[in-house]
Amino acid sequence: MSNRRDFIKTAGVLTGASILFNTAPLLANENFKKTAKGKFKLRFRPYTLNLKHVFTLSTSSRSTTPVVLTELEYDGIIGYGEASMPPYLGESHESVLKFLSKIDLSSFDDPFEMENILGYVDQIETGNKAAKASVDIALHDLVGKIMKQPWYKIWGYDPSKTPSTSFTIGIDTPEVIRQKVKETDIYKILKVKLGRDTDKMMIETIRQITDKPICVDINQGWTDKQFALDMAFWLHERGIVFIEQAMPKERIDDNAWLTERSPIPTIGDEAVQRLDDVLKAHKVYSGINIKLMKCTGMREAHKMVTLAKALGMKVMIGCMTETSCAISAASQLSPMADWADLDGALLISNDVYKGMEVHNGKVTLNTLPGIGVRKI
Ligand code: MG
Repeated sequence: MSNRRDFIKTAGVLTGASILFNTAPLLANENFKKTAKGKFKLRFRPYTLNLKHVFTLSTSSRSTTPVVLTELEYDGIIGYGEASMPPYLGESHESVLKFLSKIDLSSFDDPFEMENILGYVDQIETGNKAAKASVDIALHDLVGKIMKQPWYKIWGYDPSKTPSTSFTIGIDTPEVIRQKVKETDIYKILKVKLGRDTDKMMIETIRQITDKPICVDINQGWTDKQFALDMAFWLHERGIVFIEQAMPKERIDDNAWLTERSPIPTIGDEAVQRLDDVLKAHKVYSGINIKLMKCTGMREAHKMVTLAKALGMKVMIGCMTETSCAISAASQLSPMADWADLDGALLISNDVYKGMEVHNGKVTLNTLPGIGVRKI
């Protein structure tokens, strides 16, 4: 109950009513009532995720992630959404709440007008991608619930084709790495964060314990292209399947040079945010890492998957630390992905949703409509 009280309401009822009176006199009474009753109500509240382990990337360490949980209600049906704001991406509780407060959906009557609704939300301000994703995800959940189908079915994807998800191991000491690898028994593929001066030690430590496939994420941590290429060959010999964002995203020519020569695929992550970045990434990287919080949500992510596949690029579906809400939303796309990194909800200790589950390392979609979640 306290959760519900904490939600901030932005119904815009009066504005909506005046618009309806101005434009609806010719409608039959029955239609008018139906439209008036079906107004959107957007609610949202800040929440803080606690991470099970301190998480270290090449540039930062942290033990919590701020998120905002959204609900979009229409005609008594509620869609759930979420914004996740890791600090290095520039959004915060404050910025997301401010952005969501500006949204006025009173001029929309029909949740199926997704392109119009999300186009309106996108043009309110530039940036604010996680905030926009929180509305996009809630709208998808709502529309899927109205259609009584999960999105992977609406899109026509085969749920048996979901990939295994990698489990992420941050930069750490050999003792901690050994412990973490032992905890990842069920996972078929490991994702290892590299980009400091301990890269070879980390891989060698893990290889003493397991010969599972490993992918590595450098988070732009390598600065020399010849060093990056030498590492690519060294990693290839040790069964690493791809390298994510080896060098800074601005170094387009160097990243393309590496991709041309690397024995294993390169994946652009920081370099690939939204739909128009997919074309720019073509021939600079072998593939792209799509995350809902970077690309404003499921609608644009779906377009990115389609475009990347048409260009012959590899597709990875990734995540931030998120609850099962945003993770389940992303997992709807995963049958089309070559790789998935959807462990975000497994890294936190205070999830508030139950949704997509990982069974024997594989992304396992349920049959719940929308994004496939229910509140715990
Ligand atoms: Mg990455």
